[in-house]
Amino acid sequence: MPRALVTGGAGFLGSHLCEKLLENGWEVVAMDNLITGDLRNIAHLMERPDFEFRRHDVSQYIHLSGPLDGVFHFASPASPVDYIQVPIQTMKVGAQGTHNCLGLALARNARFLLASTSEVYGDPLEHPQKETYNGNVSTLTTRGVYDEAKRYAEALTMAYHRHHGVETRIVRIFNTYGPRMRLDDGRVLPDFARRALSGQPLRVHGDGSQTRSFCYVDDLIEGIWRLFQSDEVLPVNIGNPHEITILEFAEHVQRAVGSELPIEFGELPEGDPKKRQPDITKARTLLGWEPKVGLEEGLKRAIESFRERLSETVS
Ligand code: NAD
Ligand code: UDP
Repeated sequence: MPRALVTGGAGFLGSHLCEKLLENGWEVVAMDNLITGDLRNIAHLMERPDFEFRRHDVSQYIHLSGPLDGVFHFASPASPVDYIQVPIQTMKVGAQGTHNCLGLALARNARFLLASTSEVYGDPLEHPQKETYNGNVSTLTTRGVYDEAKRYAEALTMAYHRHHGVETRIVRIFNTYGPRMRLDDGRVLPDFARRALSGQPLRVHGDGSQTRSFCYVDDLIEGIWRLFQSDEVLPVNIGNPHEITILEFAEHVQRAVGSELPIEFGELPEGDPKKRQPDITKARTLLGWEPKVGLEEGLKRAIESFRERLSETVS
């Protein structure tokens, strides 16, 4: 039975990835310091003999005995609201955390996969974004800590591949949504949904003309799984190319919740990218992958799960 380490395994994406690995016959160690994660995301896995949870900050040396075939490095605060609150931990987990995970993969001859991000493209001047675009990132905005940490992580991953021959993969993840997002993590869907479900107006930053392209979590995880098994060392975008404005997205959420509440407009945060859309030609050609779940269906599933979480919190 192959064995994997998933850092950030108690987070939104990490917990879905743990399930995918278990379904495919892997043994899984989820490692997380719970800085933005939630043990409820993996509570249903805890009793399984092929699953183990370890509480640890991966910016510190990682001790893990036994065989190891894959290291999936997903640990990092991922919402702008989160990483603005813990900017130094964000830089550390992107830098030292990635270094520790790569060191572990090298020592144990395991394949390594880095969860990178569309934020490496910054506020993009090329649209849609192809993997060959080098980005337009500011080191100085509050987003800089996250963007630059991930850029460093990509460079370090390539160095371990070239210098040490570690088998590495890099996925550039575009905005992904679904069950288990933390309702107060500040990202746009949980924020809109939490407000709509509790009878408050939605709050759009700026005039809502900025765009994003939202991918349902199951589609993303399938893409990552295929990338891990492929031979591609250079980064691959995984995301849904269906691009909409944030104002249109707010209207979709209102419809999905059945809310008639008004939309309020606030200030656009510093460094907020104006456009974002993945070019997924590479994933299509190389992995035979493309997203399958449309926004209406995905929102239905996500909002259903948010309703359940909210009722748990209330009761
Ligand atoms: P999340 O906050 O739900 O999960 C991140 C997990 O990492 C949390 O459980 C957190 O406690 C853990 N963590 C953070 N620092 C740690 C540390 N030093 N040691 C151990 N654990 C630590 O966020 P997510 O959306 O699941 O994001 C997971 C990964 O995917 C991140 O690396 C993020 O950058 C990347 N990503 C996500 C998206 C998205 O749309 N969800 C987009 C681009 C990239
Ligand atoms: N946003 C918003 N209202 C909110 C939360 C976010 O209008 O309550 C906007 C945010 O400014 C950005 C977009 O929605 O333009 C997506 O934000 P998110 O934090 O989800 O991700 P990112 O900006 O990293 O793509």
